[in-house]
Order: sequence, then structure tokens, then C-alpha cells
Amino acid sequence: DHPSWVKNDTEVDKLLGGILKGGLDEKSCRSRYQSAWYHKGLKHQPSSHLISALRSYEALHKRCGPYTESYNKTVRYLDSMEFNSSTNTECKYVVWTPRDGLGNRIITLASTFLYALLTKRVLLVDRRVHVSDLFCEPFPENSWLVPSDFPIIDEFDKLNKQYSMSYGNMLKNNLVPGPKNASSLIKPFVYLHVVHDYDDDDKRFFCDDDHTFLQEVPWHILKSNIYFVPSFFMMPIFQQHLDLLFPEKDTVFYFLGRYLFHPTNMIWKAITRYYNAYLARADERIGIQVRVFETEPDPFAPYMEQILDCVFTENVLPQVNLALESLSGHSSNRTKAVLVTSLSSKYYKTLKNMYDEHPTETGEMVQVFQPSHEVEQHTEKEVHNMKAWAEMYLLSLTDKLVTSSKSTFGYVAQGLGGMKPWILYRPEEYKSPNPACQRAKSMEPCFQATPDHDCKTRNWLDTGKVLPYVRHCEDMQWTWGLKLF
Ligand code: GDP
Repeated sequence: DHPSWVKNDTEVDKLLGGILKGGLDEKSCRSRYQSAWYHKGLKHQPSSHLISALRSYEALHKRCGPYTESYNKTVRYLDSMEFNSSTNTECKYVVWTPRDGLGNRIITLASTFLYALLTKRVLLVDRRVHVSDLFCEPFPENSWLVPSDFPIIDEFDKLNKQYSMSYGNMLKNNLVPGPKNASSLIKPFVYLHVVHDYDDDDKRFFCDDDHTFLQEVPWHILKSNIYFVPSFFMMPIFQQHLDLLFPEKDTVFYFLGRYLFHPTNMIWKAITRYYNAYLARADERIGIQVRVFETEPDPFAPYMEQILDCVFTENVLPQVNLALESLSGHSSNRTKAVLVTSLSSKYYKTLKNMYDEHPTETGEMVQVFQPSHEVEQHTEKEVHNMKAWAEMYLLSLTDKLVTSSKSTFGYVAQGLGGMKPWILYRPEEYKSPNPACQRAKSMEPCFQATPDHDCKTRNWLDTGKVLPYVRHCEDMQWTWGLKLF
């Protein structure tokens, strides 16, 4: 179990500064307490408020989780489909349902958990999408999976912008009690559509006043593909709490991600085996995440040119002496291990050949590895997702990271590793951009497709200019995206 390069247990803080609860069974989820060995300690310290919020959440989850008395009571409203908005149920819930690739799923799950913390709701997750093959149960003593007999489980696949019980459509159809609708009889659930195609009514989820109604509804069913955390920082109802939880604003995903996402034993075995075999012994580990969204024509040449330009200009990797063969040239004892992740193997092969065939100008030895090349995205396949998760995690264990812009796969890696990556700008019209990359100033994921209206005046608002620590993303153009700094 214990890799030889870990000196002893007391050197690493296996409870991650107190965000993890001690005393849980180690055998059923080895990664929970072993991750600290591989991440080599914490890069930030959690606030005491965060630690106590997590302990309170765990108590709430134990009290209200699946098949508890409170759960059984609250779930019955979904059978009758009637609810009086003045009823105060003991427990309220937010159910996360998935969309898009694994990176999207992880960042939205973290966002939904923060929503649960802020609103004292219990987080349950759609069990049908390999969640339990990928992640250990994060909360002690009760499951986070939606039970398979959940009354409206068949509705999950129908949830989209048109869904009649979405909050946006309820507003449009006067189904929300208020001046135009005096009835206090409501449905016991509301669907929160937080997807890139949402409209101004859906986006009222990010307005304080709307939570007067929303907080009464016992079941929130949420679907999202975006990291919607930054908008909570702009909501006065949550601001004070958030300030206490996260005095360092750009640590939200770092802490929530490390708290929630523990690879299952099978994936942990794959991660640690790979790490120990190929990465552990190098003096420095470099991660390069290549996510190519274009397909035809194959943009390999400009992307490859850009990657080399970036790693050489930013001194992430040494140049090679093309005039010499690898057998000649001076050598130092320093080694660098490069972990390439991509659906394609071409980037890896080009880098590997370059370093295998020629000496580096610094004399360092550079070895290049790629765990898989899946060719295409297949989010519906379990093993494919396991590989993706293992690779995101391996990237998070590197010392320096280069990521592709706008990729949630990269966001997860940088966030879990607490790293500010070099972001490769997306080539425009198949030409390598200049500069090829830039170092991120924050390790947070970007909230793409952000709300851009003032909740009170309903006028357009540049939401990246309201707070000093919520600004536009480095990997998006113009005034797009919001990110915590
Ligand atoms: P995004 O599309 O880049 O934002 O990231 P997502 O993770 O949401 O979706 C991309 C999906 O494609 C991943 O979840 C994987 O299924 C697959 N994929 C993309 N890049 C890689 C890679 O480098 N390695 C592996 N194993 N899968 C990848």
C-alpha cells in the first residue's frame, strides 16, 4: 500500500486540514486518506467555518439521507404531487442530474454541493450514470445516491429548457405564488435548469428575491453543465456565509473537490500504479492536457506547434538540439516526466519522438507518457469514464500543468491539484495564436455562459466588473465567463 517514497504517515495531513472526517473505513475507499501522499500536502488551509459547515452537513445528511424517517416523509409529497407552501418540512433536498462529459459533471456536482451547503439542503445524485463506479460515497453513514425507487426518477431524462416545471417556465406560466397567483398550493418540486442555453427567467435562480419562493419547495431537481459557483458570490443572501467559508476565494473547487471526489478503489489502483511506475521518480512532473474541439480538417499541426511554442517559451520543458542525436550532448541527472492526456495519440508521439531522438539543451532527461487515447468521447461507457477520471486525477498530481482553454476536463485537474495552469489559447482558423499560452491567475474553473442581468433593474450588467474577486475568465473572449480570483 505504502509507496516507498512516502516517508511516514505523520508527514502528510491525511484529513486535508480537517475537511475530511477521520475514522471512516479505509479499505472500502483507500483514496480518501491516501490522496494526501500523492498530492504531497495541502496548498491552502481550509477555514474553520468550512470545516464546521462540512461536519454540520454530514450530520444533516445522516439525519435526512435516503430512507431516513424525514426522507420517507418528504418523498411522499412527490407521490401526491401536492404541497402547501406554508408547510415546513424538516429536510429539504437538491437532486443533481448529469449532463455532458465527466468534467462537466464534476464541476456541476461541486457547484450543487455548495448550493446545498448554503441553503441547508441535502444533496442527492442521480445514481444511473456510473457515479458509484467513479467516486466513493463522500458522506459518512448514508448514501448520496438517489434511491432507485425515487418517485420521479423517470422524469430526470426529460429535464430540459422546455420542461414545464422548470423555474423559468413556472415564472412564465404564473405558477409561482405571488401577486398574480395567490394560491399556496404548489408542486413539491421545481426543476432548476442551469444549462448554457438557459434564458433570463431560468437565470432568476441567481436572484435573491426568487429564493423566497424557491426555499419553500422541498425538492429541487437540478441539471447543469456549467460551474455556477461564482454567481453565488454576487448574491447578498449568500455573500456573508461565503466570505466566512472561503476567505481565499479561489479555493472553492480545490476544497469542495478534494472533499467530494475520491476515486473508487479500482480507479485508485490504476492511478497509483501509473503514478508509481512512470511519474514518482522524476524530479519534476509536467502535465499537458490536449483537448481539441475542432474535428475537420484535423488541427494537429497548429495545435502541436502551439504546444511546443508554449512549453519552450514558458520554460516548462527544455528545447532539444535537433542537430544532435540523443546519444550525444551533455547530460545532467535531472529528469522530467511528461504526462500527456488527449483523445488522440499524435501529440504524445511527437513529443516522445522528439525527446527520444535528440538531447535536450539543458541536458535534462525528458520522458513522455500517455495513459490512453480513446479517439472519441463516449460518456455513456463506464470504462471510458473511468479512464477519463484517472487521467484528470493524474494530471492533478503533476507539478506544472498546461491545459486547453474552455475544457472542464482541464478545470478539474487544475482545481484538484490547486494549480494555476498555463492555458493554451484556442487556435483561431487553424493558426497558432500568439502568445501560445498564458499562465492562469486563479486555479478555479470558469463559469461559462453566465447570467448578465442586474436582478433589481433587469438591465444588462457586466457581471465581471462588480466584485474585485469575480472577474472574466482568462480562457474566454471579451466579456465572457466568470471566475473567482
Ligand atoms: P470538456 O468537454 O473538455 O469540457 O470535458 P468533459 O470531461 O466534460 O468531456 C470530455 C470527455 O471526452 C471526457 O469526459 C472524456 O470522456 C473524453 N476525453 C476528452 N479528453 C480526454 C483525455 O485526454 N483522456 C481521456 N481518457 N478522455 C478524454
